[in-house]
Amino acid sequence: MSEYDLVLHGGTVIGAGGARRCDVAVAEGRIAALLDPGRRATGARTVDVAGGFVLPGLIDSHVHFRQPGLDWKEDWSHGSRAAVAGGVTTVLDMPNTRPPLRTPADADAKQRLIDGRSLVDYAFHTGVGPGESHRLRALPAGASVKVFLSGHHTAPDVVRRDEDLADLFAVAKERDLTLMFHAEDEDVFDLLDTWRPDPVSAADYEPHRPRTGAIVAVWRLIRLCERFGTRTHILHASTKEEADLLAAAGQRMPISFEVTGHHLTFTDADTAKAGTRLRLRPAIRDAADRERLRAAVLTGQAATVGSDHAPHTAEEKDRPIPDAPPGLPGTQELLAATVAAVQAAAPDLGDAAVLACAVRVLAETPARLFRLSTKGAVEPGRDADLVVFDPEREWTVDADSVGAKCGWSAYEGRRFRGAVEHTFRAGNLVYSREGARFGTPDGRRLR
Ligand SMILES: [Zn+2]
Repeated sequence: MSEYDLVLHGGTVIGAGGARRCDVAVAEGRIAALLDPGRRATGARTVDVAGGFVLPGLIDSHVHFRQPGLDWKEDWSHGSRAAVAGGVTTVLDMPNTRPPLRTPADADAKQRLIDGRSLVDYAFHTGVGPGESHRLRALPAGASVKVFLSGHHTAPDVVRRDEDLADLFAVAKERDLTLMFHAEDEDVFDLLDTWRPDPVSAADYEPHRPRTGAIVAVWRLIRLCERFGTRTHILHASTKEEADLLAAAGQRMPISFEVTGHHLTFTDADTAKAGTRLRLRPAIRDAADRERLRAAVLTGQAATVGSDHAPHTAEEKDRPIPDAPPGLPGTQELLAATVAAVQAAAPDLGDAAVLACAVRVLAETPARLFRLSTKGAVEPGRDADLVVFDPEREWTVDADSVGAKCGWSAYEGRRFRGAVEHTFRAGNLVYSREGARFGTPDGRRLR
């Protein structure tokens, strides 16, 4: 009889606090023990991970897996394959589907759709439109609610008026909910649109939806957070000004922010080359913004890094400029982009310290913010969601390895150092790099 179901032998476990050489023993889907080297445990299965790092399964707190209603762009089978191939074992999915997810009954219906198709565990953010603050009263305490202050092709429900926003902040505070924002100000863009033409080239994307819109929206939300004390999370901060404002505000009130993998990776120079494939909302900014966002991840000012995995087909993305929708796939590249960003921000940092930074923004802090108490760390009692990471392996992103249904990646041709070798969820192997093998899609809904 084996002591454990699974033992990962010979690796170095990474937590946000640092690294520890130990074996990881798993029983009944949970981490049973961390064993000092030399204390050989027997497992029904033992995996030799000598020389590798063991990370907690990552949490991508910002994905659009597009079901229901938009499944020609993405579906749960493909999206979750992309996720586990990148070391992500839990996703939090956004509500702007067709129909949108706005009630507990919508969430239950969506769970039935996903059941038996997901390689990852999951939860849903709930959507809300203008004048709908009463809907929040039906949500369980601790739920997270996505609010769009600005719209685009797949985001029609925009909250613009101060009174509507104040209502949402008041009810969310009362119900102990977290409000999450697409923070760009629609009124600022309307004003600019009266005298600026539609974009005609990739170089026009950023001026068409400039940083002013993001900064004004963030300023409004800081004021509301200050007034109501509601837990507030700003999605995809894209500019140095937002990072400065939010880092300062976060010292005084419960406001936090996310940075995306693509804003940590690309600049306007890449947009000029890649064209509509890098059309995004918020837009990709310039090199100084990217440096500031990378520093925010390195120092822990940014709470989370999300992928904003929002695929469109290649045909949709290659349409003439006004019709090319914003968004790209990114959950598969999330860890690689985060690690590369930290490596770039701190070239002298060792691999373990770089990974500890990544684990903070991709596991520990999202688990705490979104109240996923069984996730986020390699500790006895937590779910045995584990990633084996080879820090030396170099690899290049190519279209053949893309798990997303759309089959393309904005990162194609980009070279990374450090690769996911195996991903386990609840102690079961759900991804193995060799042969790109995937496990059983029996991911569970978490809340
Ligand atoms: Zn999004």
